[in-house]
Amino acid sequence: MYASGLNQGTSGNISVRDGGTMLITPSAIPYDRMTPAMIAAMPIDGERGVWSGPSKPSTEWPFHLDILRARPEIGAVVHAHAPYATTLAIARKPIPACHYMVAAFGGDDIRCAGYARYGTDELSRLAVAALEGRMGCLLANHGMIAIGPTLEKAMWLAVELETLAKQYYLSLAIGGPVLLSKAEIAGVREGFADYGLKTGAPRGRARPAIRRNS
Ligand SMILES: [Zn+2]
Repeated sequence: MYASGLNQGTSGNISVRDGGTMLITPSAIPYDRMTPAMIAAMPIDGERGVWSGPSKPSTEWPFHLDILRARPEIGAVVHAHAPYATTLAIARKPIPACHYMVAAFGGDDIRCAGYARYGTDELSRLAVAALEGRMGCLLANHGMIAIGPTLEKAMWLAVELETLAKQYYLSLAIGGPVLLSKAEIAGVREGFADYGLKTGAPRGRARPAIRRNS
């Protein structure tokens, strides 16, 4: 997360589903001092808030836990205060279909969840709602979340989300984007489905594979 520029200080946290357990980065420990033994564990369907480990879980554990509870197909959650995504979140601007990669998030926009204080159940409720049918969202006046079936895909989408946020922000500075239509985004999602990205697009038609950087 540091190398990709997603993280600022000790902000940002990651969780992974391990069977019935959520593994989550600990609270307030800089990533460069973090070791595997410091990762906290919480039961996904057990008593809410129970944890084990040498360090307490990230203060953002409520939305990590509730996303894994609400979305059984999701295996990892990445949260960051990445600069451009957070800039849009401060302005409460969702990301529209300004680039075809928006389709990788499951629809024709990336929503911005309403504001609630960090670590609260209300923020968790707002985040789960903004993520409905999506693989990422912004959090008003806070940051961003990207999710995926695996940690690798969630991290890839986190970097893509920050890239889209930067591109959308820059396009606003030169008169604003020309948006893709719902049909154009639907076409991209069909292509992604064949490539193996889980965006909820229909499957089964033979099409050339789309590479990540095409
Ligand atoms: Zn945060």
